[in-house]
Amino acid sequence: MKKQIAVIGLEMHCELKSNSKVFSSARNAYNETPNVNIAPVDMAFPGTLPVVNKKCVADALKMSMALNCTQPEYMYFDRKNYYYPDLPKGYQITQMAAPVGINGKIEIEVNEKLVPVYIHDIHLEEDAASLDHYFDTSTIDYNRAGVPLLELVTEPCLHSAEEAVAFLEHMRDVYKYCDVSEADTKKGQIRCDVNISIMDEDAKEFGTRVEVKNVNSFGGVYDAINYEIKRQSELKEQGRYAEVEQETRRWDEETMATIHMRSKVDAIDYKYFVEPNIPKYKITKEWLEELKQEIPRLHLERKYDYINNYGLSNYDATILVKEREVADYFEECVKLGITPKIAANWITTQILGYTNKYNITIKKIFLTPKRLKDLTDLINDGTISSKQAKDIFFKVLEEEKEIKEYVSSDNAQINNKEELMNIIDTIISNSPGQVEQYRAGKTNLFDYFVGQVMKNTKGKANPVLTKEILNQKLNN
Ligand code: ADP
Ligand code: MG
Repeated sequence: MKKQIAVIGLEMHCELKSNSKVFSSARNAYNETPNVNIAPVDMAFPGTLPVVNKKCVADALKMSMALNCTQPEYMYFDRKNYYYPDLPKGYQITQMAAPVGINGKIEIEVNEKLVPVYIHDIHLEEDAASLDHYFDTSTIDYNRAGVPLLELVTEPCLHSAEEAVAFLEHMRDVYKYCDVSEADTKKGQIRCDVNISIMDEDAKEFGTRVEVKNVNSFGGVYDAINYEIKRQSELKEQGRYAEVEQETRRWDEETMATIHMRSKVDAIDYKYFVEPNIPKYKITKEWLEELKQEIPRLHLERKYDYINNYGLSNYDATILVKEREVADYFEECVKLGITPKIAANWITTQILGYTNKYNITIKKIFLTPKRLKDLTDLINDGTISSKQAKDIFFKVLEEEKEIKEYVSSDNAQINNKEELMNIIDTIISNSPGQVEQYRAGKTNLFDYFVGQVMKNTKGKANPVLTKEILNQKLNN
């Protein structure tokens, strides 16, 4: 059999952050008591009308631009008609004919290489209610009905489980950087449909595609893809490729297998038509321009900037861009004049160590970039040693006082050459025996003298200067 390649396309759903739902005034918060955040529109009460949430449209347009998509001239919605208990209206308001974005392209990083991903479209729609099935009963929570949802559809351009998961992780970070979603898979905010087919390496046409619906963890996506590639390849190897059917399957966490749900032959005809209760409205160039200004520099761009222009390691840069707040903190430090490598060291070791330990965000840490600057300035001008700086770091966080309060005559490093010379002169004249032995060749006594200076100054003598003076005095 010829070498096979896998072809993968993803449909990624992500719930947006907002105060109210996308078409009603009910709160957008469903991880609480069931059936409390519901407006009449969400329940399809007769005579109620949807009102579009402007913030959701703005965020959707922002994401469209972040993915380098083309935006439509007019914003409008379509009805996707089907019946299901989680959909009281009997239709979902979505976008079919004119999505907020089409024909996008981004680059993601897979094993330190850049891989292009082509975006078919991104569209705004409403989530359905959530259903829970128990032994002999099912429950419905309408809190989720009408929660804003962005669906992103890629072209079939991915070729492995690694690439697919790298794309999802990349997108999760983009959503978070743009502050349009918490993008938390654990809260069910990201859900995926995964389309997988295989084909001969040199084939001109794609193979038969299988869709795996509603995979809700990245690990699940990874496993479902590898499971399907193996299943389809084995059938092909056995000359049974015709048995790979165009169908919808689901991922079963328990058996770690995909399971047949329905055949695509009996695919539902949704009878789409333009949602008549929401007027079309023009998306102006000015509004788009305004929204564009709100898109921050994204993580990959920052990462390469840190590596290429600040000389950071790939490792450090990756840690710094993982959360936007951390990257912003780092950039603020650099802006204030801290050497990038030094700022990176403090952040990746001390600061993130502290924020992780106490589970706080870097935004909340008392040691602001300005205070870190004060601290590193003291090291640079020789007032304190790096060892002392670390001690001060912890004291500052504990006591929340300004850096300068920690630099007193008690702990300031002695950098005054004359002062040190006087101290060293006294020590030398008080140790004639050791001086004689040292000059006779017992050079390891040097450390004895350094020790004496430190003892005398309670460890505050500048060690470099101390050694320099001792060298002069003892060897002349
Ligand atoms: P549907 O409405 O049935 O979900 P779409 O045309 O919207 O179909 O396609 C959905 C997804 O299927 C897209 O992400 C697309 O990239 C992917 N896809 C299309 N053809 C293939 C294929 N041969 N192999 C893998 N994925 C595919
Ligand atoms: Mg689909």
